Amino acid sequence: MVRVRLAPSPTGKLHIGTARTALFNWLFARRQQGSFLLRIEDTDKERSKPEYTQNILEGLRWLGIDWDEEPLIQSEQVNQHRSAIETLLDKGLAYRCYASEAELDAMREAQKTSNRAPRYDNRHRNLTPEQETAFQTEGREAVIRFRIDDNADIRWTDMVRGAMSWRGADLGGDMVVARRAPADQIGDPLYNLVVVVDDAAMAISHVIRGEDHIANTAKQLLLYEALDLPAPTFAHTPLILNAEGRKLSKRDGVTSINDFRTMGYTAEAIANYMTLLGWSVPEGMEERFTLPEAAAMFSFDRVNKAGARFDWDKLNWLNGQVLHALPAQQLLNDLRPLWSEQGWTLPDDGGWGLDLCELLGPSLTLLKDGVDQAKPFFERPDLEEDGSSQLEADGARTAVAQLLQTLKAEPWDGSDTNRAKQLLGDAAKGAGVKKGIVMKSLRAALLGRLQGPDLITTWSLLARIGEDLPRLQRCLA
Ligand code: GLU
Repeated sequence: MVRVRLAPSPTGKLHIGTARTALFNWLFARRQQGSFLLRIEDTDKERSKPEYTQNILEGLRWLGIDWDEEPLIQSEQVNQHRSAIETLLDKGLAYRCYASEAELDAMREAQKTSNRAPRYDNRHRNLTPEQETAFQTEGREAVIRFRIDDNADIRWTDMVRGAMSWRGADLGGDMVVARRAPADQIGDPLYNLVVVVDDAAMAISHVIRGEDHIANTAKQLLLYEALDLPAPTFAHTPLILNAEGRKLSKRDGVTSINDFRTMGYTAEAIANYMTLLGWSVPEGMEERFTLPEAAAMFSFDRVNKAGARFDWDKLNWLNGQVLHALPAQQLLNDLRPLWSEQGWTLPDDGGWGLDLCELLGPSLTLLKDGVDQAKPFFERPDLEEDGSSQLEADGARTAVAQLLQTLKAEPWDGSDTNRAKQLLGDAAKGAGVKKGIVMKSLRAALLGRLQGPDLITTWSLLARIGEDLPRLQRCLA
């Protein structure tokens, strides 16, 4: 039975790296008909905040990732963590280390001067009972360290990276598993131990996480063995890099999923793109897909080892694809709040907003383009340079005047588009100009410029809210 988990620390908003890890876990779980679980790693009391947990859960839901059981709250498992440490102490696999911060600093300084890699030198590994008592009488506090044999030969088969091996000697010496505390107590349990205890308690079969955790995996494998727990299978996914090939960071302008949301990306495009960051689609499958479509095809042998470079053009392309295919009603649901923020309200004419979305949808790259492009439908635009020079062209004003005259006599309600075409033809004839001049001038009058969506539909939408006549009139003033 496949059981995977995402174990976010609620110390910030849903990070893109975490979101990508979530996707790979979710895709694998769904493909294998297993379970995808959440564990909130809130043991860093100072930095963990409930609002970050909310943000993370909300961001996952937004992306279309659902989970199967109530999330496990790590801080609630502290008794299990403590009892695992007691087991290690009882077995002689862990011990108290009384070295003070100052002593450890001096040790690292000495290592640096003699060009040795920094590591704990295991100085308190074999204290005699007398030495321990002496430290305790001094009132020293202690951390608890787990013994790491320098000769340990740690091996696993990684689902992404294949055969992996690590030497105990390269893990930095005996590892702290509980923070400093009075010597008769067990201090706060630390990350590597806690993760092993929790993953075992949750019966996690596969741990899928970023490759920055590889050294942790080596340490955790030693802990599984020490605690007689079955180790899961591991998959380490490649990091997300920026265009320069460095780890994507704050400097690239995006760190959390919220940043993308604010920038106007859709959940579908982000989920699609994040999956492509590291996973290459099988032959014959399109790069534009929904998560369930990807889940049907997902496997780790198509996850790359090399870091994945973030490509904005591709993301923009995908986002455009999603927006173009979005049903008008859904686009309206997405755009309405953005329009409200601008103080724009939809007219009573129920279908108007829907028709506007129908018109604008095919030209959007980002959702917020739907604000820029909708603006002239809610606010009378200024005449731009190309618009006003069009209205200066030969015959333009006569054509507008002609059109206006006809419309005043017989207003157009915007419904019958054949009538609009006929009106344009009549105006051209009456003014003695080509139909093209009438059309360009009408566009300039309505939108203030010469670029824009389909003219007749634009006109129709403005006519339905009584905005065509005033704009035509304005050009003659
Ligand atoms: N809380 C850890 C993190 O966010 C979890 C890592 C893991 O998956 O074990 O990096």
